[in-house]
Amino acid sequence: MEEVRVFPLTCTVQNYAWGKVGLKSEVAKLVVGGDPLAVIEENKPYAELWMGAHPKGDAQIKDNRIAQTTLGQWIAHYPACLGSKVKDAFQGQLPFLFKVLSVNTALSIQAHPNKELAASLHAQFPEHYPDNNHKPEMAIALTPFQGLCGFRPVEEILRFLKSVPEFHVLVGDEAAEELRCSVGDDVRTSRALKRCFSRMMSCEKKLFVDELNELVKRITEEGAAGKDTSSSNGDLLLRLHSQYPGDIGCFSIYFLNYVVLEPGQAMFLGANEPHAYLYGDCIECMACSDNTVRAGLTRKYIDVNTLCAMLNYNPAPVSAKIFQCVPEPSDPYVTLYDPPVPDFTVMKIQVPATVKEYTVAPVDSASILLVIEGDATATCPAALSDISMRRGTVLFVSANESVSLHVSSPAGMTLFRACSLL
Ligand SMILES: [Zn+2]
Repeated sequence: MEEVRVFPLTCTVQNYAWGKVGLKSEVAKLVVGGDPLAVIEENKPYAELWMGAHPKGDAQIKDNRIAQTTLGQWIAHYPACLGSKVKDAFQGQLPFLFKVLSVNTALSIQAHPNKELAASLHAQFPEHYPDNNHKPEMAIALTPFQGLCGFRPVEEILRFLKSVPEFHVLVGDEAAEELRCSVGDDVRTSRALKRCFSRMMSCEKKLFVDELNELVKRITEEGAAGKDTSSSNGDLLLRLHSQYPGDIGCFSIYFLNYVVLEPGQAMFLGANEPHAYLYGDCIECMACSDNTVRAGLTRKYIDVNTLCAMLNYNPAPVSAKIFQCVPEPSDPYVTLYDPPVPDFTVMKIQVPATVKEYTVAPVDSASILLVIEGDATATCPAALSDISMRRGTVLFVSANESVSLHVSSPAGMTLFRACSLL
């Protein structure tokens, strides 16, 4: 049998507690789209769809004519499928993990180490840092997507220090004053911001729980009296507190930008960037790693010292946190989300209603293709037979293979593709 180089995948679902439940979840909708026989439980969270070869969620090959049963096993047999550059640069491994996320309640506030720090953390604390790789991430909104990302401009933090006395107590007068005096001097500002954030993060538990209860009580009373609580970021504070009562992470909303991505907008989370996903559905792509340093909104291990030491303390407005995607020069239907790391690039392919024949162009990298909307029949010399593509279909495409789509849906098609453009 000739070598098959393009095939459909059945991907792993992660039912983490923070996911949207039942068919409210984009993940669940894609699962039934791709497999009408799949059973979705009404009350179960469907948090993540993993499209890749990660050992904790290696995709199944959906074709029993292929001897290997998972994508990871198949790549181990045919590493040339990665493309020669990717194969050499990433030691025969698929360098990225492609995901869909459906977020109902906040995920922990976190940052990911750079390669150097990842290696040293893994060597010292392998139980908390499972590998030695960095973990840059890109999130592209499918529905309006809320998150926290990067430190706010100092003026905004100073405003909260004034209008939220419970927050001021945790930072302390001295650090707050240092921050106020640092305005205009970037080096001093970063240093003062680090001191303010570290002071808050290392507060005694009793102190911050008392202050948080005080703050929740005040905002609740003000809200009940019909007052505007936006100067305390009241709605978000109450929401996070209802999800994580007594958690220090609730106060981080006064330090970090609150970002709402519109569908198609993205944020890129490079090394040391503090962030949290709060609500919504997104496409996510990341380097293959599990290294996460957490800062709150979590019941998991929090490593305050590592976190406070590593963060990027450069304040910037929300607008600076939106990642700029660009049109692909050679294809009018492709938008590129190309972050400054070699591990992955994401492409959004939007085939308009008027185009019925479209070719997914070959790239010198293995790629994973996900249909978000639309129907087509895919033909490809490297596939065993024609493949029926619909919402939720996931294809693995080996390097340098093209896939021809005969589009049958009247409104066109939307696909996302992950690959590594070295
Ligand atoms: Zn992250």
